[in-house]
Amino acid sequence: MEYVGFTRLRPGRIHLYCPACGRKMSNMPRDANDPKAAVLVHIYCQRCCQGCKETPMYFFNARGKRIREAWEGPA
Ligand SMILES: [Zn+2]
Repeated sequence: MEYVGFTRLRPGRIHLYCPACGRKMSNMPRDANDPKAAVLVHIYCQRCCQGCKETPMYFFNARGKRIREAWEGPA
């Protein structure tokens, strides 16, 4: 499960996970655009996204379900 290895989530924070290197960053400041239900986001860390302009970002809720974004359309 993706939440293993993270410390307990504090209010107003979000966990980050880099799918490229597996780095986990607990309780990072949330972005204003982050979905409210999201507790975990898969995003490339600064080391892994060097040189990339756009990095994919996937949000997950507390039950481990990926949150689809408006631009992705219906499931
Ligand atoms: Zn990384």
